[in-house]
Order: sequence, then structure tokens, then C-alpha cells
Amino acid sequence: MNRRYRKTIIAGNWKMNKLPGESKDFIVQLKEQASAAKWCDIVLCVPFTHLHAAVKAARGTRIAIGAQNCHFAEKGAYTGEVSCRMLADMGVKYVIIGHSERRQYFGETDSDVNKKVKAAIDAGLRPIICLGESLEIRENGAELDHIRMQLKAALKDIDAQQLRKVVIAYEPIWAIGTGRIATPQQADEVGSAIRETLRSIYGARAARGVSILYGGSLSESNAGGMFAMPDVDGGLIGGASLEPASLASIIDAAQQD
Ligand code: PEP
Repeated sequence: MNRRYRKTIIAGNWKMNKLPGESKDFIVQLKEQASAAKWCDIVLCVPFTHLHAAVKAARGTRIAIGAQNCHFAEKGAYTGEVSCRMLADMGVKYVIIGHSERRQYFGETDSDVNKKVKAAIDAGLRPIICLGESLEIRENGAELDHIRMQLKAALKDIDAQQLRKVVIAYEPIWAIGTGRIATPQQADEVGSAIRETLRSIYGARAARGVSILYGGSLSESNAGGMFAMPDVDGGLIGGASLEPASLASIIDAAQQD
């Protein structure tokens, strides 16, 4: 991480877990257990049904609340969907876009991701854009090309001003929920390729301000090594974000110099 140019961000992704009523206790415990997290932005991405309780519980704390998905339209006949404006109106600050589970199980395309990123920024939300390769792509040595392609598609027609809102999460699919974490060197190699691509599109100044997170089997035991890498600016954490104590330990790891 490089705190001179960009924020360290620790974001939990609860996925489809817990009940709304559990949000308050979790946030109270996390607030107590995480040491004064002045170097690090903390985000909790909860299911839609938990947002109201989570936003209320996080008021006055350093924890920002995020959603895990959004629709790209402002409003209209999209039964079952939730717009970015609705999220922003509730006090939500971040939204995960293009998580591999959404791409895999719900057919989300690069073009959908791009539309959602634009909608999120227009509504004042910070999109956390997920990029990642399958095991097959990595075994073929094509991961950097794949990530560059996903990144360019996600950011199509996004200008340098809008880029300031964007957070990128590199999440190799083979590392998500598997216990098989990427090595810090692998994560940093991809992080650096992402930054290089941003530099080629937006210039050095805009590129160095973007926080690039790593996600995939991060835990309190491996987070420190990952966060020591120059192009890993924090983490997107699934399983280990479900317990306040383990998320607090990961936040503490992100505070170390
Ligand atoms: C995720 O789903 O974003 C994730 C990183 O999951 P896990 O930490 O459980 O691998």
C-alpha cells in the first residue's frame, strides 16, 4: 500500500449471510475491536434487507455501509431490482459491482458492469469494481490480459474526474472462498498491471490515486503479508468479514507500516 497517494480500504462482503438484526451488534463489536482506524476506510457490504439497520448502526462511526449489487437504470419496470439512487438515499456509500458470483450465477456481463459503474457514480456512490480470472485462465498464463480487458470494459466512457470515485478489487476466482490465497507477489503483479493500465488511459496522477484491493481467502493470518505489497491497498473480504474479531484483526493488519 502507498498511503501517500491513496486510501487503504478494508471492505467486508457479507454475501447472503446473517439477518438484519445482527448488523447492529456486529457494528458495535467491530467499532470496539478495531483499533483507532485512522489510516484506513472501513466498509461493510451487507444484503439489501440489512442496509437500513446497518446504516443506522454505523452512524457516527468510521464504518461506511455498502451494497453488493445495484441496477443500472435510475427507475422503471425492473421488478425486484434496486437503483443506485435508492441506495444513496438510504445513506449507502459504496456498492460492489461485477463480483465473480454475479458474473457466474447471474450472467452479469462486462457491459452490465460498465452501466452499473456509471449509474453508481452518477448517484454519488463509490463502485468497488471486481475483476478476476478463473483457474483455467491463470494456468494458461493469460491472467493479465484478462484483467486488462475486464478493467477497460468496466471503465468505458468513465473520465478522470469520475475515476476518483472508483475502487478496484482484484479477486482471482480460484481464491474466493477456497482457502487458496494468491501469493502477495501474484496479487501485486496484477495490482501493478491494473495501475499501469489506468496510467495509460488517465495519466500517472489519476492512476496513483486509485485504491486497488485484493480479495480471495484473506484472513487475519495472511493479511499482513498481502498489505505489505505496493499495489495492494487493502482487501475485499468475504468469509473472514462475518466475525467482528477477525475483521478487526484484518483492519489492524492494514494499519501497520
Ligand atoms: C469475496 O467473495 O469477495 C471474497 C473475497 O470471499 P472470501 O474472502 O471468502 O474468499
